[in-house]
Amino acid sequence: MGSVKKRQQDATPFRDYERQIRQQFTEIFARSGFDAGRDIAGIILNRWGHAYLSPAPGFFFGRDGKPAPSDVLRTAPFGRISFANTDLAGVMDHRYSILEADRAVAQLLDQVLSE
Ligand SMILES: Cc1cc2nc3c(=O)[nH]c(=O)nc-3n(C[C@H](O)[C@H](O)[C@H](O)COP(=O)(O)OP(=O)(O)OC[C@H]3O[C@@H](n4cnc5c(N)ncnc54)[C@H](O)[C@@H]3O)c2cc1C
Repeated sequence: MGSVKKRQQDATPFRDYERQIRQQFTEIFARSGFDAGRDIAGIILNRWGHAYLSPAPGFFFGRDGKPAPSDVLRTAPFGRISFANTDLAGVMDHRYSILEADRAVAQLLDQVLSE
């Protein structure tokens, strides 16, 4: 049953998604003046499943003696920019986006408070 449903989802053509998105936007926003033909320049559809991660070599532990990119981005802010997203954890889950954001904001606050 699960695999049948998955095959149906994989086989849904782009035009079906596009039509449904245009219809839903029209139902929601038409009363405010929205016109799908005029206001939508294009729709990009990414089929990106829940919890999908495709790490490149070195993603988790670094490569050729160099640290992992996520370690570089997490260690300290770059000026007043600090990075926060699930990708840094390598666990595609909303909890990690929150934990990473908490860490990034704390780093910036530490920096601002110590200036
Ligand atoms: C289909 C699907 C189902 C999921 N289901 C679950 C679930 O049930 N439970 C769960 O815990 N997690 C789920 N996840 C994972 C969860 O949604 C993500 O891990 C989480 O949203 C990632 O948060 P983030 O802040 O790291 O990135 P995002 O939520 O992707 O936020 C990044 C933001 O940056 C914006 N952005 C990108 N580039 C730029 C730019 N150049 N300038 C300005 N803004 C930019 C994007 O538009 C986006 O709003 C699911 C993911 C998918 C795809």
